[in-house]
Amino acid sequence: MCKAMRDEQKTKEQLIEELAEMRQSLSKMEEKLASQQQAEVQVQQKQHFLHTVVETTPDIIYVYDLVEQRNVYINHQIEEILGYSCQEIQTIREKVLPSLIHPDDIARVKEHFELFRTCRDSEAIEIEYRMRHANGEWRWLYSRETVFARNAEGLASQILGVAQDITERRNAITRLHESEQRFRHLADTAPVMIWMSDTNKLCNHFNQPWLDFTGRTLEQEIGNGWTEAVHPHDRKDCINKYQNAFDARQQFTIEYRLKRFDGEYRWILDTGIPRFDSVGNFVGYIGSGIDITEQKQILKALGESEERFRCALMDAPLPILLRTEDGEVLLVNRTWTELTGYSIQEIPTLKDWLERAYGKRQQQVTDEIERVLPIEGPTAMGEYAITTAMGTTRIWDIYASLLGPFAHRRLVVVMAIDVTQRKQIEADLQQAKAQLEMKVAERTVELLQANNHLHRLINILTATINQQTKIEAQLREAERRWRSLLENVRLLVIGLDSEGKVEYVNPFFLELGGYTREEVLGKYWFTTFIPQYQQQDMQKILRESLQGELHTHHENQVLTKFGKERTIVWNNTLLRDAKSQIVGMMSIGEDITQRQALEKIKDEFISVVSHELRTPMTSIHAGLNLLATGLVKLDSEKGRRLIEIAAESTERLVRLVNDMLDLERLQSGKITLNKQKIKTDELLRESTELMQVIANQSEVNISVFSQSIELTVDKDRIIQVLTNILSNAIKFSSKGSTILFTVEKIQAKDGRSCAVLFKSQDQGRGIPAEQIETIFERFHQVDASDSRKQGGTGLGLAIARNIVQQHNGQIWVESQVGLGSTFYVMLPISENSEQ
Ligand code: ADP
Repeated sequence: MCKAMRDEQKTKEQLIEELAEMRQSLSKMEEKLASQQQAEVQVQQKQHFLHTVVETTPDIIYVYDLVEQRNVYINHQIEEILGYSCQEIQTIREKVLPSLIHPDDIARVKEHFELFRTCRDSEAIEIEYRMRHANGEWRWLYSRETVFARNAEGLASQILGVAQDITERRNAITRLHESEQRFRHLADTAPVMIWMSDTNKLCNHFNQPWLDFTGRTLEQEIGNGWTEAVHPHDRKDCINKYQNAFDARQQFTIEYRLKRFDGEYRWILDTGIPRFDSVGNFVGYIGSGIDITEQKQILKALGESEERFRCALMDAPLPILLRTEDGEVLLVNRTWTELTGYSIQEIPTLKDWLERAYGKRQQQVTDEIERVLPIEGPTAMGEYAITTAMGTTRIWDIYASLLGPFAHRRLVVVMAIDVTQRKQIEADLQQAKAQLEMKVAERTVELLQANNHLHRLINILTATINQQTKIEAQLREAERRWRSLLENVRLLVIGLDSEGKVEYVNPFFLELGGYTREEVLGKYWFTTFIPQYQQQDMQKILRESLQGELHTHHENQVLTKFGKERTIVWNNTLLRDAKSQIVGMMSIGEDITQRQALEKIKDEFISVVSHELRTPMTSIHAGLNLLATGLVKLDSEKGRRLIEIAAESTERLVRLVNDMLDLERLQSGKITLNKQKIKTDELLRESTELMQVIANQSEVNISVFSQSIELTVDKDRIIQVLTNILSNAIKFSSKGSTILFTVEKIQAKDGRSCAVLFKSQDQGRGIPAEQIETIFERFHQVDASDSRKQGGTGLGLAIARNIVQQHNGQIWVESQVGLGSTFYVMLPISENSEQ
């Protein structure tokens, strides 16, 4: 409340009191007036005074009759304040309350009137209420009322009131209240932490964000409670700063760490300002805090980053200079100083640098810098020769770049690549290149000569290599041929090492011996493949050969896998290594086993044949000799007998030669069988018929038991077999005996096919058991005189067996000496026989 208002209030209170006093005085005066006419004048004077006061006061002065419920008096201010005339108000009877008082205030006004029942005379009762202005607006009034008149019972009947228009004040208070509400709302919702303190430095308010932040209650924070949450390290400094600023009534800003509700200390930037009331009285401080932890971290990071950048710049291996646009050199890095010899103190401005580095060329360089400087972004300035503090010259490839503003001035970063060394190397290289080219030219001539020489050498070498290759190919071919020969030849080839172990063996050996390669290679030759009785001799041959006395030929027996012995004739040669040392023996052998057997047969054959031929020849020769010499007369009995003998012998010779030729043809396969279908009875009949004459001559009977079985055979050859058997039976039977000649169908030995069995059973002399088999061989006869006596050749059965075998048949004999012999001829009638 302003002073003017307070003064006004005070005046009003005094006025009311004065009015009360006046009333008393008046009543006294009235009393006196009643009694004293003289006082009338005074009264009139006082009334005038009162009237003047009442009419000039800015407040409404009224007398309200509690009984009549109307204003019995009201001054003109009513018009001013509520827009009604005094008459209008006074004429409102019993309608003052409902028509003029705000409905919300009526009850209160009524209660207020009730208070006057017990109110003392000098007591003033206040009330604030709203009344309707003539224009319909509500106006706030402040009334101070006191008992004005009492009835006979002493009860208050009229009240005197002074009403003051407080609408403006009320509105101001409302606005203030609303403003404060808004402020509080704002303070509680603002993202800042707000506090207030009183004149004793003690805090009396913390907004909701503050309490939310600390997680503490208002009661805990009030006074100096809030300092408990300040970080112990910061607390003293924080309180000091606050108190110092407080005492000086100055604004302050402090940073301190405050513990958040979650226990984390956060950096707070707190700004406090002194508060003064409307009349300038200091009423305390108000402050706001914001959490600047993030900013601090960012700032710290920025600081670090800037430091790193600075360090990088300082330590960069390139010379770098940082200057302002107007030429102040802010930084030259280490490399710059090292290369130029100038520290920042020696080149505080660009001009100093240009002067020192370029000397007389300074202006030219300055012009170039000014020309390119406005260009945004990095600019290549080109190569410059700079003079260092040491007086040497360096070549720099310079780049400049315009950076953003720094303290309102733009920065230029100048960077250079020191190419002095490179340039020197390039120059050296150039020189070296020239020298090299010269040397290359010289060397080229030398090389060309050497090359020609080399070419010739290469040609010779190529020719030699070609020759070599050709020889190798020939060797390979020769080796291939030899190997092929060894692999395919029908001779045995074995290679023995010096110990007699088999190192090589050819396929034919394996084939002949029935061995596998594994069964032979690496085995001791003599103990494995030579019969024991020859082992020693053979070992001796090898031993002697290895010692240089080569046995070029030898013959020995070789054992096959099945224990058979084969006769091999060997041809030996020594095996030598690259140094011509004897390392083994290679033998090529021929299997002569069969040849040997044939030789033996041939020898026997020749002796027999020569004997068989010589006998008739001798008798022919002797007979003819006797006749030729005339010792025996041709026409004599003896002469005729000699001619008969010669004829018989000749016949015998012819037969013998025929039989031999026949047998030879049969054995060599020169005769092909002329097979045809024929019945057995026919074969038997024809054979018997052919033999019947001789049988008759010998007085031997032939008894035939025949069956008609069809056969497919060479008819003539089978008849030849059967007649040979019959003729022998007749020859070796005694007179009057009978030969049983039969044929029957039998089961072959295999049990499946059928066969025909011819049987010739005689009662002759029989054949000794040991000759049962041999009589089927050539020239074998039981008795050597048989040929002479019986006219046989000893070839008949050999021929017969050959013919039967060619028919896949069998021929054999069963005999007992003195009892007779039975010859069997079995011929198959199965399909095989037809082949
Ligand atoms: P040969 O022309 O001598 O008869 P073979 O080969 O026919 O020639 O007979 C050989 C020999 O077998 C005869 O010389 C004879 O000694 C003996 N031989 C053959 N058949 C009989 C037989 N039925 N009884 C006794 N001996 C026989």
